[in-house]
Amino acid sequence: EKKGLNEIRKMFLDYFHLKGHLVRPSFPLVPQNDKSLLLINAGMAPLKSYFSGVEVPPSKRMATSQKCIRTGDIENVGRTARHATFFEMLGNFSFGDYFKEESILWAWEFVTEHLKMPVDKLWASIYLEDDEAFEIWKEKVGLPEEKIVRLGKEDNFWEIGLGPCGPCSEIYYDRGEKYGCANEACKPGCDCDRYIEFWNLVFTQFDKDEEGNYNLLPNPNIDTGMGLERVACIMQDVDSIFEIDTMKYILDNVCTITNKKYNEGDQQNISLRVITDHIRAVTFMVSDGILPSNEGRGYVLRRLLRRAARHGKTLGVEKSFLYLLVDTIIKVFGETYTELEEKQDYIKRVIQVEEERFQETIHQGLDILNQYIVELETAEKDTLQGQNAFKLYDTYGFPIDLTKEILEEKGLKIDIQGFEEEMSQQRQRARQARSGEDVVGWKEDVFTKLNKEIETEFKGYENLKATGKI
Ligand code: ATP
Ligand code: MG
Ligand code: MG
Ligand code: MG
Repeated sequence: EKKGLNEIRKMFLDYFHLKGHLVRPSFPLVPQNDKSLLLINAGMAPLKSYFSGVEVPPSKRMATSQKCIRTGDIENVGRTARHATFFEMLGNFSFGDYFKEESILWAWEFVTEHLKMPVDKLWASIYLEDDEAFEIWKEKVGLPEEKIVRLGKEDNFWEIGLGPCGPCSEIYYDRGEKYGCANEACKPGCDCDRYIEFWNLVFTQFDKDEEGNYNLLPNPNIDTGMGLERVACIMQDVDSIFEIDTMKYILDNVCTITNKKYNEGDQQNISLRVITDHIRAVTFMVSDGILPSNEGRGYVLRRLLRRAARHGKTLGVEKSFLYLLVDTIIKVFGETYTELEEKQDYIKRVIQVEEERFQETIHQGLDILNQYIVELETAEKDTLQGQNAFKLYDTYGFPIDLTKEILEEKGLKIDIQGFEEEMSQQRQRARQARSGEDVVGWKEDVFTKLNKEIETEFKGYENLKATGKI
């Protein structure tokens, strides 16, 4: 049944509301009181202090649709059917309340009875040692044994360092052979887009101690994450998350603005999808108060924006165009995320300014990079000198990954170490320049001025005394 993304989000939150969950709007993309994370990358991330017991949750059951950014997936975007840098993660959480059985049974009920996904297309994976989960899937759900796949730690065990951790169970949808890969052993967990993982249920049942023991938690937690775009992709029976109602609407506008058609070629499709994804991420990031810069979150933002701008160039767009897409995005998401509408003009301005700044140098930068490429090819070399990569970064505003990506398209690479050396030398020069200024300023300016001020003050005091005011 074709359901829109906004409708699916609402169905999920309504369902868990009826199961006694406190429904909260998405937390911002910028983590609050958490220095361990640059950007929120999962529904549980802003709730960490409830899981660890540092804070008492307002309810033992909560549900959200959380804005997420995963830069680690950037290279997959536009190439796989299922990855975006920005996406929404639907999640239901239990803080020491219900556990494995309810979480699996409710997930199953929601998927099969509410979303009405055909049962015969569904698969589950479990952590290979988690017999408890196996039993629930087999006996309580009634899933045939051969559709319960046991996977190893890297796929189905969630842990970060010490502390709370536990096995996961994922739900997959089989999209059929036409999405399959050549691998005969293709099954859930395969990296191709046939069995699409859409819901991850994490059973936080252990506490890992210093000695590496997994101690059972007295009150285990549940943390689930379901990719909203992926569910929509399944429900709407489209090839990729870029063709679901919301994304397609943006993508169509990207096509109009760039004067290109979708499905006219693989490379062009990737560019169109990358622009669609990145401008959406950028819009949400700016609405949450992030500004372009050369470090931290600001750098992620800059990187996404400039990468999108460069794909625009590849498509032959001459002028700034990304800021023109903001209205489209807000039209789709403004009702759910009111911060978008509130800051509409501001978001457009920030994006336009950053884009125009890059416009000034992107042509020159691309010309120079192409020259480097020709030089490398004639000399039959495959590695761009760090110095040259640094020049593109420093003078032409090319984020290093952008240079890397363009080179990779030609089968070339960068001397990253050389680039890092140039970077640290520049930092050192900047420090020296600053301390130099400071020394001069302090000796000849601040210090002497300060002395005079002390004298003046002193005199003033004397004067006051003399006049008998104190
Ligand atoms: P995959 O193996 O496909 O990369 P994942 O195992 O990394 O996914 P999880 O960390 O388990 O993903 O996140 C929970 C859910 O969030 C996933 O099951 C998926 O539905 C969704 N999700 C994860 N990464 C992305 C992404 N980059 N774009 C869209 N949805 C995503
Ligand atoms: Mg992943
Ligand atoms: Mg996975
Ligand atoms: Mg997963």
